[in-house]
Formats: sequence, C-alpha cells, structure tokens
Amino acid sequence: MMLTNIESKIKIGPSDRLFVLTGAGISAESGLKTFRDGGGLWAGHRVESVATPEAWKNDPELVWRFYSQRRKDAVASRPNAAHQALAELERQLGERFFLCTQNVDDLHERAGSTNMVHMHGELFKSRCEDDCGSAVQYDEGSYESLDQVPKCRCGARIRPHIVWFGEIPFGMHRIEKEIERCTMLLVVGTSGAVYPAASFVHWARRRAGSPARTFYIGPEEPLNVGAFTEVILGKAGERLPGLFEVA
Ligand code: NAD
Ligand code: ZN
Repeated sequence: MMLTNIESKIKIGPSDRLFVLTGAGISAESGLKTFRDGGGLWAGHRVESVATPEAWKNDPELVWRFYSQRRKDAVASRPNAAHQALAELERQLGERFFLCTQNVDDLHERAGSTNMVHMHGELFKSRCEDDCGSAVQYDEGSYESLDQVPKCRCGARIRPHIVWFGEIPFGMHRIEKEIERCTMLLVVGTSGAVYPAASFVHWARRRAGSPARTFYIGPEEPLNVGAFTEVILGKAGERLPGLFEVA
C-alpha cells in the first residue's frame, strides 16, 4: 500500500474500466451525517437497531420516523464536487464506468450519474412489506405516525425500500460481473466495516485477469486499508475532482 500525495493525475487508458464504490463519506460534504458521526446514534437509538427487520417488526413507527428524517435531510442537501466529478467521469468513459453506492440518498443521480446500482436501497422508494408483487413506488413521504403510512393494495404495510442489516444487497450479480472486468477500482468514503461491500477491493485484486489497481479516497484509513494499492487521504470533494485523467 502506498500513501499517496498525488501531484500528477491518475491516467485512465483506452482499455481501462473503472468500478467505483461510494459510502456515506461522499455525502458528508453535502451535509448528510455518516453513520459514525454522532457515535452511530440516532435520537438515542443505535442506528443498527433501527435498520433491521427486527426493528421493523417490533417498532415500525420508529423505523418510519428514522427514514422520514433521512428523507428530509436528503431533500435539503445538494450534490457536492465529488458526486459531480464521478458524473463527469461517467460522461467521459461511457459504459467503461460503473458506480455502486452504499448510500440510499439520491445525490449521485442528482449530479448526473446514470450507470449505477444502489446496493443498499433507495431512500425515496417504498414497497410492500409482504412482497406481494406490487411495484416498488417512488415515495418522498414523511411519516411521523403509522396511520399516515399508506397501505399496499394487498392490505399489508408499506416499508422503506432499504436493505437492512441481515438482508441481501441489491444488484449483486451485476456488481460481481463489473468487478470481474474492471481494471481500476476506486473506493470513496466508506469505513470498510460492512460486508459484502468491504470485500469488493479484495475481489478486484483476486479477479481472473491481472489484479485491478485499487484506490481509496477519504480523510482516514478504512479498516480494509491493506488491500488498496493507493490511499489518498483527504475529503472527497477536495481530492476527487481532477484526480483522474481520461487518456
Ligand atoms: P460509515 O459512517 O461507516 O463511514 C463513513 C466513512 O466516510 C468514514 O470512513 C470516514 O472517514 C469517511 N468520510 C468522512 N468524511 C468524508 C469526506 N468528506 N470525504 C470522504 N470520506 C469521508 O459509512 P459507510 O462506510 O458508508 O457505512 C457502510 C454502510 O453501512 C452504509 O452504506 C449503510 O448501508 C450501512 N449502514 C446502514 C445503516 C442504516 O441506517 N441503514 C446504519 C449503519 C450502517
Ligand atoms: Zn402488497
């Protein structure tokens, strides 16, 4: 691992493919709290304990209040220079660029990213808790009590379209395929504590072709720091714009 103070740009050649994984840190400069800010607590509850199927079963109102607050925070925020830099890289690289985010906010889309997967779900979508076959709905509702939450046509409750702890992330088939064929993997603003996302950097090093070059950007070393070929310490909004040069 190299701790880089990059003076020159990182070149993306004509046969390179870039896979990007982002976490809560990329939205920090937009004013959205990371999970570690506030000691992992929300209104006195451990964040992990409101983001589980058990919490939904025991106290769905608390769960809806938590995600309603996060919807309000996201509506009030704007994409920052790091989201914009990734959208610009996609414009330059076309289908050689792929974005996977662990974030449930919509700041990447609002910056212009399109070729992307929200592996942990999306804040502004809701679905039937019984998966009765009704469609996932766009939903920016803010619910303070359960009687405000709409019911599904099957009669079941509507839940946030979020991947809770213990649930299977979305888009894993596509993600695995994109990691297998990337030559460069960039991770931005994630502590490397939540799996499977924390393994992606290892998969990129062990893929069938030659190992991908792996980069991390964030103000502190992630837990899986040893798997990165280059670590660029600093805020995403300051370090990412202009870091890469498409040859
Ligand atoms: P995290 O809070 O664990 O880590 C945030 C990271 O961002 C830290 O490594 C920090 O150094 C970095 N960071 C802070 N400011 C930055 C900046 N300006 N630029 C770049 N990096 C910056 O968040 P995470 O790693 O994204 O968490 C992983 C996943 O765990 C989350 O996406 C989420 O899906 C899941 N999780 C979910 C909940 C939930 O409420 N559903 C709760 C906890 C974790
Ligand atoms: Zn239903």
